[in-house]
Amino acid sequence: NTTIVWLRNDLRLRDNRALTAACERGDIIPIYIFEPKSLQQLGGASKWWLHHSLNQLQQSFGGKLLIFVGKPLDILSQLIESTKANAVYWNRRYLPEEIETDIDVKATLSEQQVAVKSFNASLLWEPWQITKQDNTPYKVFTPFYTKGALPKSPAFPLPAPPQMTFGDVPVTSVQLDDIGLLPTIDWDQDFYHHWQPGEAGASQQLALFLDDAVNQYKKDRDVPSLPGTSKLSPHLHFGEISPNQIWYSVKQAPLPESSSADIATYLKELGWREFSYYLLFHFPHMLNENFNAKFNHFKWQHNPEFLTAWQQGKTGIPIVDAGMRELWQTGYMHNRVRMIVASFLTKNLLIDWRYGLQWFHDCLVDADQASNCASWQWVAGSGADAAPYFRIFNPVLQGEKFDKMGEYVSRYCPELAKLPPKYIHKPWQAPEDVLQLAQITLGDTYPHPLVDLKTSREQALSRYAQIKS
Ligand code: FAD
Repeated sequence: NTTIVWLRNDLRLRDNRALTAACERGDIIPIYIFEPKSLQQLGGASKWWLHHSLNQLQQSFGGKLLIFVGKPLDILSQLIESTKANAVYWNRRYLPEEIETDIDVKATLSEQQVAVKSFNASLLWEPWQITKQDNTPYKVFTPFYTKGALPKSPAFPLPAPPQMTFGDVPVTSVQLDDIGLLPTIDWDQDFYHHWQPGEAGASQQLALFLDDAVNQYKKDRDVPSLPGTSKLSPHLHFGEISPNQIWYSVKQAPLPESSSADIATYLKELGWREFSYYLLFHFPHMLNENFNAKFNHFKWQHNPEFLTAWQQGKTGIPIVDAGMRELWQTGYMHNRVRMIVASFLTKNLLIDWRYGLQWFHDCLVDADQASNCASWQWVAGSGADAAPYFRIFNPVLQGEKFDKMGEYVSRYCPELAKLPPKYIHKPWQAPEDVLQLAQITLGDTYPHPLVDLKTSREQALSRYAQIKS
């Protein structure tokens, strides 16, 4: 028996249920397909990651991974015809269009007597497994997690298949380098210092986290200058590690009793990832429409100049600018700062959350359509279980609370580094002599704030009042 293993968001050997099942059946033909539309929609940072991740996976398969560009059904049909394959296995995907494609492929191939099987390798709980007593989906995180999810134990992770034998393939596939995923202008140099895409990189990152940061996770996870979080999000997105592997590694790690609250908080964050997928599965419109239809009447502001300043980290609000520059330089932004910059864009600049979502999609190495749309709508106030719209983050107070000494701002906005902590989050309030001593000329070396925080907050609240009534 020969099985085609169609790899997608599961670029790993360990805890890969489709791969393991296929290996138990006989020979395998592992393939990856670039669907033209998805390739076009892939953000720049994601392309960079995917290139390196597939390179690593190619090595894990001893060069036997076949890469194609085209429509999955066409490619799979041709491959079945030219090889002895009589089965196709894959791990499930959850975006609306992906589900449609998979249903279509499964139906057509099954009609041709090909054994098609799908597995779960990306979620702790399948979205359809969890419903309220009345069989409707949860819309609020806490009951979803505590009542719906936690009572069901996630599947225990599998080891890598003990052996892989490969089927003969008379067709040639595309070379990864020919897909052109890497940028032509070298904006990605810093990425190499921050990330190691691939299954081995994911395991190392998890080990690093379990060695140290997990013990202070609850306290440090909100401080953007510290390495206080796991940084596993891009590895999870591309499936170089499964949430199940992380879940059980954290639970079984020999950690002190005093870390139990840290562990619970960390596992809950994995729960938020599950909740994002869960919501998108049950409410697919939220991918690019307001979850809460009231927001369809919200008067967003069209202001390309403000949007560009936000994207470039030139808003004149230090914590916002630091976050946007971290994103550009490293392909990542700390979660606390993601919330601050998203609140600033949607509430102080009154720009539609979808512009922010698109920019994140282009620039994040962990760009993930489920988590991205759920999180943007959470901040904007239009989502399920969203932060109430009237709770507007004050970026100065947030900076003073979570970046007390201004270390994070100094790292990404070095032109502000000489300002004392008292003024680093609000340089416009610094006396002239303090600015001079710090070699800052507002409007020249660092911008004036784009908007007044108090007035823009009031404007946002009054627009919100209009849709509320
Ligand atoms: P840790 O704190 O170590 O958390 C562990 C894991 O839990 C993460 O890797 C992630 O998979 C998951 N997680 C943590 N927080 C969240 C959350 N709020 N929602 C969903 N999952 C979560 N995350 C993405 O993976 N992709 C995105 O495109 C994305 N866009 C976001 C956009 C906005 C506006 C906001 C506010 C948040 C977004 N997040 C997104 C969620 C969160 O910021 C990142 O998952 C987190 O910063 C990743 O860093 P980490 O792996 O060190 O997280």
